[in-house]
Amino acid sequence: MQKIGHFIDGKQVEGTSGRYSDVFNPATGEVQAQVALASQEEIDAAVANAAAAQVGWAATNPQRRARVMMKFVDLLNRDMDKLAEALSREHGKTFPDAKGDVIRGLEVAEFCIGAPHLLKGEFTEGAGPGIDMYSMRQPLGVVAGITPFNFPAMIPMWKFCPAIASGNSFILKPSERDPSVPIMLAELMMEAGLPAGVLNVVNGDKSAVDAILDHDTIQAVGFVGSTPIAQYVYARATANGKRAQCFGGAKNHMIIMPDADLDQAADALIGAGYGAAGERCMAVSVAVPVGEATANALIEKLTPKVEALKIGPYTAGDDVDFGPLVTKEALARVKGLVDQGVKEGAKLVVDGRDFSMQGYENGFFMGGCLFDNVTRDMEIYKTEIFGPVLSVVRAQTYEEALELPLSHEYGNGTAIFTRDGDTARDFASRINIGMVGINVPIPVPLAYHTFGGWKKSGFGDLNQHGPDGFKFYTRTKTVTSRWPSGVKDGAEFSIPTMK
Ligand code: NAD
Repeated sequence: MQKIGHFIDGKQVEGTSGRYSDVFNPATGEVQAQVALASQEEIDAAVANAAAAQVGWAATNPQRRARVMMKFVDLLNRDMDKLAEALSREHGKTFPDAKGDVIRGLEVAEFCIGAPHLLKGEFTEGAGPGIDMYSMRQPLGVVAGITPFNFPAMIPMWKFCPAIASGNSFILKPSERDPSVPIMLAELMMEAGLPAGVLNVVNGDKSAVDAILDHDTIQAVGFVGSTPIAQYVYARATANGKRAQCFGGAKNHMIIMPDADLDQAADALIGAGYGAAGERCMAVSVAVPVGEATANALIEKLTPKVEALKIGPYTAGDDVDFGPLVTKEALARVKGLVDQGVKEGAKLVVDGRDFSMQGYENGFFMGGCLFDNVTRDMEIYKTEIFGPVLSVVRAQTYEEALELPLSHEYGNGTAIFTRDGDTARDFASRINIGMVGINVPIPVPLAYHTFGGWKKSGFGDLNQHGPDGFKFYTRTKTVTSRWPSGVKDGAEFSIPTMK
């Protein structure tokens, strides 16, 4: 059985705790590797190594650090297929979607090539008589990232690229479900010229996370995962005096106004609701058509599309819409929530629970499910399902539709489909959600903007990537300086000699 260890001091090392977790191939249901779970001692050793490496890295000028990112981008492009294949094999997402996962991370690495510009401070000449004032942005030291299973390339890169380009060293604790790609990324960073120890990857579970949260040397923690763990990480990290930004779960609503192009809206819902088997924090999981006629027409358009979804393993090529869920437990949980929705009285228009993939009967596959007549008191409305399940909640007016995402506890993403600029503008202005799409179902901001949810989808006050990423991983020092006057008092015509 393949054993996956850690990546410390520029090389792969075996785990020493004696504890391992199974890594599955979700398409076949087989265990394909075992990943080591780090002990407190292994975290301590990785942090000590990172701290030693950080001093020289912080002293390296920003342009040279940026050149490592430049080379890293080239290497990501060179190894794109290899990375995507490893990613699909452990996560289950389709090959094109796995490439998208790598590309969305690569774009942040690309943005970080501009780090020297973002790290420049501010300067005020003559802030007082003979006084200048300037600020500089300095790295924090050793920082850490704890990342989820659903984007094993993109989210680690969202964290470590700005942190490392700013002169920090980084401890990455990726998801134990799909640990191979993060180690491959660390190897590529080394090949790009990163000094050993600046990026260490430690695999692990709660014990490793707790060791990170309690470690005195670690100055900041970036987390992405489910809301209960995000809240826990935020509370423990900040209680220990660390900077923390912790992003959590989601329930993303898409409002469909009566004037919307319904074909366009239905296609958008299919892609955003079922892509990656719904295992995206920006997946649309609730459709809110406004008016009975809109709702009836939408259900009519969606039903055959959901029934026709092509499900399969990533090896089946580009002609697959989505793959299996990540684990057997995730599959059981999603099916259980669908059962509950039926019990609570929602109308299950398309039932994908019994789907079985021929030749892959042990894989964690399920078909797409479509619910109509979902109401706000139902568990399937309140909970993040994180599976291929779309709920339709009918609203009679725009105000009634708007009230749903406004009052939901999550605030990651949302969208409105309409032809009316005034409605779209009102929606963008009034909604209390971090990322908004207007006729765009998955409004994931590009690398030079920032990504972050509101309410229970995000804890902490800065977003990921874009300028906020650099603010999070640096701190400002402001210098007020006055130089005594003297040399300019009078001209000296004789050759200067020591006085
Ligand atoms: P998860 O919360 O189970 O795990 C995330 C990380 O926390 C992993 O590294 C895991 O090892 C660690 N962890 C798990 N249990 C822990 C515990 N009890 N104590 C300490 N650490 C623990 O999340 P997941 O299942 O890997 O990812 C899916 C979730 O992530 C979904 O809720 C999804 O919405 C969310 N997500 C959010 C965003 C965002 O930007 N808001 C992006 C991607 C995913």
